[in-house]
Amino acid sequence: MRNIGADDARRILTQAFRPARRTAINAFLIYSAGRLALMDTGSGNYLGPTAGAVIANLGAAGVDPLHIEAVILTHMHPDHSAGLTDMTTGKRNYPNAELVMHENEPAHWFDDAKMAKGTDRERRLFFQAGREQVTPYKDRWRLFKAGEVFPGVTAIPRHGHTPGHTTFMISSGKEQLLVWGDTVHVPEVQTAHPEVCMEVDSDQDAAAVSRRKVFDQVATDQLLVTGMHLHYPGFAHLVRDGTGYRLIPEAWVHAL
Ligand SMILES: [Zn+2]
Repeated sequence: MRNIGADDARRILTQAFRPARRTAINAFLIYSAGRLALMDTGSGNYLGPTAGAVIANLGAAGVDPLHIEAVILTHMHPDHSAGLTDMTTGKRNYPNAELVMHENEPAHWFDDAKMAKGTDRERRLFFQAGREQVTPYKDRWRLFKAGEVFPGVTAIPRHGHTPGHTTFMISSGKEQLLVWGDTVHVPEVQTAHPEVCMEVDSDQDAAAVSRRKVFDQVATDQLLVTGMHLHYPGFAHLVRDGTGYRLIPEAWVHAL
């Protein structure tokens, strides 16, 4: 994390009963207008044995990956896009899906000059992993700038974490849910201190500006929100609290 001392960050986590940093990686299945979309794909086999369970969990939910018509990405990072392709076979995990993402994402991650400026880890985990994961979908990319990208799913770009990082408003009847992507990575710390950025943000200042805009939108409109790194199951409201904000987890109700 950046813009906070380690002791302060540790104190916030300890006071929230989280003595060690623990990160969920969520992906979301959307059923709308009779069609299935997957929002982000988890990490495949890029990030260790406690991650990469999206395909297994789709199976547990009775969903065949063949029936996913669109994979919508918040951005190309290994915990979001690395579940697109099985690297042992090189085959698409979602063979019938189009790949929907902000136009800035492939423009950035396929830029050799930008890749050359990265550290070894960035080149391998971000640039190379992203390229090998999205390339098998090349003839079925659908790039957007903003607006409705799937029935009831509207893209609201919030750049900074990556050049094309995007949040999505999902609407159904009178209900709305904002999927805020990677607006936060360490929720307890970054809601209390929206200025706190991550080392891996492409543009930390822009990421902080985007985070404040998203927080203001969610708190003002009293939106239900979720994100890829909110603690499972990850649905919450956000309220203003002192100079920052605080998440109030949504009560978790099973389907009848
Ligand atoms: Zn992430």
